[in-house]
Amino acid sequence: MHVHSVTVCEDRIDVVVRVDDDERMRTAGDDAAVRRALELLPGLKQHMCDNAQGITFAEEIADTEVPHLFEHVVIELMTRAGSPRGLKGETQWDFNRDGHGTFRVSFEYDDDLVCLGAIKTADRVMVHILEDTEPPDVEVETARLRDLRLRVPQVEGVPTRM
Ligand SMILES: [Zn+2]
Repeated sequence: MHVHSVTVCEDRIDVVVRVDDDERMRTAGDDAAVRRALELLPGLKQHMCDNAQGITFAEEIADTEVPHLFEHVVIELMTRAGSPRGLKGETQWDFNRDGHGTFRVSFEYDDDLVCLGAIKTADRVMVHILEDTEPPDVEVETARLRDLRLRVPQVEGVPTRM
């Protein structure tokens, strides 16, 4: 899966995600990928999820759309970078309208740069989860995202948030 485009709207950020390989559309049957996701980001187990089945994300992660896992990875990275836990994500798709394997994932955000940075890092995290490549250093990446919240210049010694 890869991020195709990102659009910053006033109240959310919309991401178009494409999955080219039909075999990698869902997490089902890929226990190793699920294990890598939970090892790198244990906080995923605590995630709430609005789904029709009324199950938690901890239960759902074993069989869900890969872009839906991406959605939760982005939210987790934002949370670790200091965003409020209540921010919501949403994953939708309409293959007839958008083309086979195209998903639309959207995010509420408290800070657009933090959300954009989380999307970029999550793209790399997904490569690790799906392809078993070297994982990005989540501590370093989320610390970098946290720093984006406080922006120069400082006014009278007080960091301003624009
Ligand atoms: Zn969810």
